[in-house]
Amino acid sequence: MSKQPPATSQIPGNGAPLPRPVRSSLDLIGRTPVVELTTFDTGPCRLFVKLESQNPGGSIKDRIALSMIAAAEADGRLKPGGTIVEATAGNTGLGLAQVALPKGYHLILVVPDKMSREKVQHLRAIGADVRTTRSDVGKGHPDYYQDMGARIAEETGGFFVNQFANPANPRAHETTTGPEIFEQLDGDVDAIVVGVGSGGTLSGIGRYFRRVSPKTKMVLADPKGSILAPLVNTGETIEPGSWAVEGIGEDFVPPNADLSLVSRAYTITDRESIAAARALLAQEGILAGSSSGTLLAAALRYCREQTEPQRVVTLVCDSGNKYLSKVFNDVWVAEQGLIEKIRHGNLRDLVA
Ligand code: PMP
Repeated sequence: MSKQPPATSQIPGNGAPLPRPVRSSLDLIGRTPVVELTTFDTGPCRLFVKLESQNPGGSIKDRIALSMIAAAEADGRLKPGGTIVEATAGNTGLGLAQVALPKGYHLILVVPDKMSREKVQHLRAIGADVRTTRSDVGKGHPDYYQDMGARIAEETGGFFVNQFANPANPRAHETTTGPEIFEQLDGDVDAIVVGVGSGGTLSGIGRYFRRVSPKTKMVLADPKGSILAPLVNTGETIEPGSWAVEGIGEDFVPPNADLSLVSRAYTITDRESIAAARALLAQEGILAGSSSGTLLAAALRYCREQTEPQRVVTLVCDSGNKYLSKVFNDVWVAEQGLIEKIRHGNLRDLVA
């Protein structure tokens, strides 16, 4: 059963002070808003989402692009006019492009071919050198995107960013995303639901909250086929499968993913993720990407399992604009076998 949305103010922003003009879109990274979801059945819990989709590059990855480039400039790994190489699902690449290209760096991005065409077009439009590679091979294969990125960096003498092991990635979340959530929720947060791609979000936010709010639990939302949730729940490493959701789920444990921070892990199917992303748009007017659907589905499951009131936070990791040809395209969703028959509202019924 859906709850009715409350009446909203006629004044955008409810009269909060308007942000002052800034001199660069990079100054708009971070300090993202939080919305309470009021139309979903959240059991005894209150559920909040932090809109990382409102960063200028449309994703949570803008934060780490800033910190990883600043760290490499500071310690001399990156010199003026140098080449930057990264393996990315797209969002880290876009963040890097925004920071690096105006400064005159060259940027080579290796992107697996399952990623949406919107993300690849955006990267090419901004001026990155995008090399797509196979999505159906794992670590150790020469065409695997991370191995290919490392190889290109070696051949070109470029700086391999390597978000999967770069400590400036979790540090960005430990120093910005975590403190923002704490402040926006008045220091009272029972659980934070995150996904793991590189592990930066989990480890950064998790480390911050372990310090300032030990009661806060980190909850992992993981696509079916990824090894991470089964590893947390059973200690066993499964044979990885494939999944349609982009940016989260892994076939290995990235050095940046501190899974010891996770208290509860959920495996979420593509069908559930896409239904949740579509319901978030239909019910709340929030256009979010596929990984945000996974996080929302896990957050709803977590909330409904609780017996006591809790304050739960999750993230809109990126904007659904990046997936209009996929998650929000009925034909693609049907072709993937994710829903038998499309009719108005039926995806919403799966989660609402
Ligand atoms: N969602 C999306 C859309 C992403 O691109 C990523 C990063 N690949 C994540 C979530 C996961 O974040 P992290 O790398 O910090 O684990």
